[in-house]
Amino acid sequence: MGVGLIILIGKQGAGKGTQCARLAARYGVPHIATGDMLRAAVRSGSELGGKVAALMDAGHLVPDELITAVVADRLREADAAHGAILDGYPRTLAQAEALEELASPRGVTAAILLDVPTETVVKRLSARRVCEDCQTVYSADPWPPPATCSNCGGRVVQRADDTPAAITERLRAYEQETAPLLDFYRVKGLLAIVDGSEELDEVTRRIVAALDAARA
Ligand code: ADP
Repeated sequence: MGVGLIILIGKQGAGKGTQCARLAARYGVPHIATGDMLRAAVRSGSELGGKVAALMDAGHLVPDELITAVVADRLREADAAHGAILDGYPRTLAQAEALEELASPRGVTAAILLDVPTETVVKRLSARRVCEDCQTVYSADPWPPPATCSNCGGRVVQRADDTPAAITERLRAYEQETAPLLDFYRVKGLLAIVDGSEELDEVTRRIVAALDAARA
């Protein structure tokens, strides 16, 4: 039967990407990260990439229908038949409604809020560096960040949207568009809140405990 669809919600820099990769490995389901998929589209120069590049660099969300179509296609692939870890989707109420249909009849299994104070994520994002090939995350604090990825040898770079202006816009979009999802999942009895300020292994342990409780 598999784990079904698990959603991670949290501010930019809350640690969703790292935790989602761990959960995907643990449960044997794909990690579907919409931001990574869109950045890959931009790099490949596809039609989709051309539509979203400027919006992403400025820290704006891309249109709901467009990202929902991307996620719908991805969920139809064979490896997602028994579940998936969704990272970065849904991010608006319209997307959450659309996902209800995509996830039907089984529905979403659980929504986890990775809770981290804004002050902490601003610090993390400003120092964030990523491998442009495999997306492994590094930090420039303490300085200097590594030049190449220890995982795949790719170049370690700063994301175009980790600038102060784009960080401010992304956090504004989170509060305005994404925070309302918490009530959406709370009233369905699907929301679990995990403190994302703890160290990585402890955060993973708490998410797994919340998921086990939700599935029991
Ligand atoms: P972050 O959460 O740190 O902003 P992501 O890598 O998840 O980073 O997303 C990067 C960008 O991709 C977003 O700022 C937005 O432009 C676009 N994006 C990703 N997922 C969605 C989504 N579900 N809806 C709209 N835009 C999205």
